Formats: sequence, structure tokens, C-alpha cells
Amino acid sequence: MDIDKNKCVGCGNCHIICTMGVISLDEDGKSVVNQDECVECSTCYRVLRNENYPSWFVRAIRKALTVFNLGYLADVDICPTGALTPPELVWPRVLRAQFSNPTVVHPGTGVPGRGTDEIKSNDVTGRLRKGEAGLVVEIGRPELGAFFRDIEKVAMALAPLEPVFEPENPVTHLIADRKTGRMKEEVLDEKVLSAIIELKTDMEKIPAFLAALEKVQHEIDTVISVGVASRCLDDGAIPHEEWVRKAGYALSPNGKTNLGLGRPRFREDEP
Ligand code: SF4
Ligand code: SF4
Repeated sequence: MDIDKNKCVGCGNCHIICTMGVISLDEDGKSVVNQDECVECSTCYRVLRNENYPSWFVRAIRKALTVFNLGYLADVDICPTGALTPPELVWPRVLRAQFSNPTVVHPGTGVPGRGTDEIKSNDVTGRLRKGEAGLVVEIGRPELGAFFRDIEKVAMALAPLEPVFEPENPVTHLIADRKTGRMKEEVLDEKVLSAIIELKTDMEKIPAFLAALEKVQHEIDTVISVGVASRCLDDGAIPHEEWVRKAGYALSPNGKTNLGLGRPRFREDEP
């Protein structure tokens, strides 16, 4: 995000709205965005109403009010002068918006956001079959965001376990070598609100994956949350529960259960 310094009056309203807390007052009393840390989510631009007052007008009101010992405070949900200016984003910086701005459709998946709907629609797609486990590893949420150099460390920690990285996932598109997990060099310094590595593996490998994540979490400068999925057994039991427990973890009580009301586009006995 850019701030037009000719318009900004330094009211500070955008500072508290910024999801990454990366807008601050510059020495000239106007606001500035730390471009390295901004994830181009556009929350500041979308949430604050643009009053579009000329900056000279706001400054004149302020000056006039000081005569009466009064101050001018803009309503907290506006940018009084419309100084916030979304930039034209080019590769690789455009990745920030594709992963962080929910109104931007990712060109690789055709849906907005940083993941796919594969696990949620598993009853239709049959991506996860009996004996298989799906892992979703979200990096950067809540609050911290993540650079791809940290996301790469996670991918490289998991790759030796020979997962099947979800082919439709936007992070997978950025992995240059799926055997090592190494990502495209040019994306490493880009930062996003969060990114999700999605993969499939055999059920009994769950403890190895969780152990690898436990180890790599100390090497990255952000947070990780992990989801595990599998197909329920005929009696309704959750097969991955046992393997998660073997790894020393417990499932959180807010898991999602897909009831399987969709019409399957696969047959269990076909690959
Ligand atoms: S809300 Fe607008 S005028 Fe106020 S500090 Fe931010 S960019 Fe400047
Ligand atoms: S685009 Fe997002 S991260 Fe960047 S300054 Fe605005 S709210 Fe903050």
C-alpha cells in the first residue's frame, strides 16, 4: 500500500486498522508504510471510508480550531483525504495480494484466498482415500504473517517425508522442486498474511510429519497451525485420531466433519 504524502494529514486512523501494524508516522508528520512488512491485504483501503477532503482544507480547519484551543479529530473509520493508494502490483510482489487480500482471485486456483477447497469437498472429489491422511499446515496466522523464506523452511522440512503436495494449492505452485521443498528464488522475500501447505500422505506417517513440524517451528520467525484430515470409518470413528495421539498431540474439539452429502465423482475401488 502506498500513502500519498501530498494528501496525508497524519490523523493516524490507518495505523490501528493495519493488519500487520506497519503504518507509522514519518518525521514529516505524515504516515508511511513499511513496504517490506506490508502484505498488500488492502484492509486499510477497504475498511476506511474515503472522505476525499483536500488536505489543505483539513489543515485549515485544524489551524482555525487551535485558536479556540480545540482540535480536529476525523471519525475513526475514515481516511479524511483519501491518501491511501493501492499500487499497481507486479510479479513477485503481486503474490502478497493474492495470498492476503480476500477480494483478489488467485490465478492458479480460480478462487480467492490462500488454499483450496479440496479437503472440505472430499466426499465429492475423493482426494483422500481410506488409509490416507491430509495435512494442512498454515503458516503466519494469527497476526504475524509469513515470508516465503520461512514457508520454504517448512516445505523443506516436510519434503524428505515424500508427501504428495496438493497440486492445485497456490503454495505448491511456488515450489520449484517438490523433492526438496525448495521454492522459487524470486518469491522468498515476499510476505503474506498467511499461506497453507496442503499435502497427502499415509496415515502411519502422521507422527513423522508432526515431529518435523515441531522441529522446524523453532527455526522460523512466525507461527504454524496444523490440521489433519481423513475419511471416517464405517462406524464413524476418526482414523487419524490414534496417529495424532501417538505423536503426543490431542485433536482440538473444533474439528470439522463433512457429512458426505455430495454426489461422489469417484469410485472407491478406482485410483
Ligand atoms: S487515514 Fe489517511 S490521512 Fe490519516 S494518516 Fe492514514 S493515510 Fe494519512
Ligand atoms: S495493505 Fe494491509 S498490511 Fe499493507 S498497510 Fe494496508 S492494512 Fe497494512
